[in-house]
Amino acid sequence: MQGLTPIQRPLGTMITAGTTTRRATTTSDGIDHTPETLDQTKARLEEEAAAFNRAVIEPKDGIYCNLCGNKQTVARVIPVKRKRSDGSEYVWNWYVQDELCACVPKRNAALKQKASGMSEAIENVGEFITDEDWQRSMLQSARGFVMQTAARCFFVGGHTGTGKTHISTKICKAYIERGHALLYRKWTEVMRELLDYSNEGRGQQFKELTEIEILYLDDLFKPIGNSIDAKEVRATFEIIDRRYISPNKITIISSELTLPKIKNIDEATARRIEEMAGGKDGFVTNIGDDKIFSKVDWRHR
Ligand SMILES: [Zn+2]
Repeated sequence: MQGLTPIQRPLGTMITAGTTTRRATTTSDGIDHTPETLDQTKARLEEEAAAFNRAVIEPKDGIYCNLCGNKQTVARVIPVKRKRSDGSEYVWNWYVQDELCACVPKRNAALKQKASGMSEAIENVGEFITDEDWQRSMLQSARGFVMQTAARCFFVGGHTGTGKTHISTKICKAYIERGHALLYRKWTEVMRELLDYSNEGRGQQFKELTEIEILYLDDLFKPIGNSIDAKEVRATFEIIDRRYISPNKITIISSELTLPKIKNIDEATARRIEEMAGGKDGFVTNIGDDKIFSKVDWRHR
């Protein structure tokens, strides 16, 4: 939110209380101190609120809003009501209240999209083409995933060109639009960072990966050299396990490897992924070389 909320008055501030002025009368200075009527107070405050709402500032996030003139707050004139002894209500006074504009959630989502590192991908994500049954089942799984809260991992594994990144990006878009904080990272880059012991930011980078609400880890276990080494396996497990034990963390994982193949690299990591995805009938999509097995059964492999 930093630098995003040029609120000119604190929210909910009473600009004019007015009760004291109503008691005033003409005094010896000769100036008419006749208090304004309630209608006059209302008219004056409405003018003031309208002037505030008309004022336009340049939005720092590039989002233009006609309602608030990009100030993110809208002034509204509101009655203060009181009750008579017989229980009926009357308007006792008027005041101006600053309310958060409807554009604020949109601004926050845009900010999060930018911070996620996949701003451009989300802007450009188009319709997911579903020519084949397995594509339809993948889309269905993705739609189901964002509509539920029990499973905390969406896994899609299989060779390139099958739309894994596309479908994962669509899931990310759905979460960002709802205002969640998301981080997109390529596994190879994460490994390069975390296993570079001269990198002083390692601790902070690990913390970020484990603490972010939604992590999209792309290309899990894509070999940097010839093969995956033990250090990479351990570091990967640490990230996945930390997210597994923290409540409310959602992890989206795509890989060129199916989950059974990941199991061959590291069973512990694969099992954590499977469990977070809601078990073997959960949100795991394995796109095979020859066929598509959507819900893989561990025990029969
Ligand atoms: Zn606005």
